[in-house]
Amino acid sequence: MRATPYRIDAVIFDFDGTLTRPGALDFEAIRRAIGCPPGEPILEFLAGLPPEARRDGQARLDAFEAEAAAASQPNDGAEGTVHRLRAAGVRVGVISRNSLASIKRSLRNFAGLSLADFEVVVSRDTPASPKPAPDGLHLAAELLGLDISHVLMVGDHAHDMAAGAAAGALTALLVPQGAESAGDGPDFLVRTLAEVEEIVSLGRPLPQGKLPKDLLEVYLSGLEFRDPSVLVAAGVGGGRGRARRGRPRGAGAEVRSHHLRRRLGGRLPGHGERQ
Ligand SMILES: [Mg+2]
Repeated sequence: MRATPYRIDAVIFDFDGTLTRPGALDFEAIRRAIGCPPGEPILEFLAGLPPEARRDGQARLDAFEAEAAAASQPNDGAEGTVHRLRAAGVRVGVISRNSLASIKRSLRNFAGLSLADFEVVVSRDTPASPKPAPDGLHLAAELLGLDISHVLMVGDHAHDMAAGAAAGALTALLVPQGAESAGDGPDFLVRTLAEVEEIVSLGRPLPQGKLPKDLLEVYLSGLEFRDPSVLVAAGVGGGRGRARRGRPRGAGAEVRSHHLRRRLGGRLPGHGERQ
């Protein structure tokens, strides 16, 4: 996990298995249908075929993708996460090795999301080398007018993490509940898309002046007050309710607190110190 401060201005999501539920595309069945050896990347295999065989393989791949797109479903929390990120001023995009047509078809199964909700969509129809090449992410950052180091790439596959790392973006690997984590490569490991929101909230520039109440609350919850002369420990006052209502709490709290302490470590008194 990342141990240094970071800033996030945009989140670029992988599509299949990240914004959609995993398992819609049967990659092994596609490989068998087009004669691609097991484990070999499909797009790169097709690119190396003679023109006629490539066209035939491409048509078979398109058919598999169309079928999978028609059956795909939003991943848990995907719609809410995208909308809350946008509402918080975070730029949101998609980068996929799929065709634009299959992404559009898939989004028809999302009640609350459409292509218009993404400021940038990089598909295999975009003239950029597909993931794991960093080209698509560089293009997305350029289109958004952002520094690539302020972009978070979220995906469920090693290709997503490789593309993000090669581009110089931050990376978060979505590891489904119950699955093994994939080691220390990515900057962040998350179990749910809601945890992405927690990570992003800690990477947003803080307003000048007072620390927002919800961040202060998490920080103070980690302090111990041992001085017997302190009758009332520091806490967050009342006022007009907590900021950022509507953001899911609970599941990601540990992630959030963990990164918050790291982020604030150099700026506020640490454990047991007096203010
Ligand atoms: Mg994926």
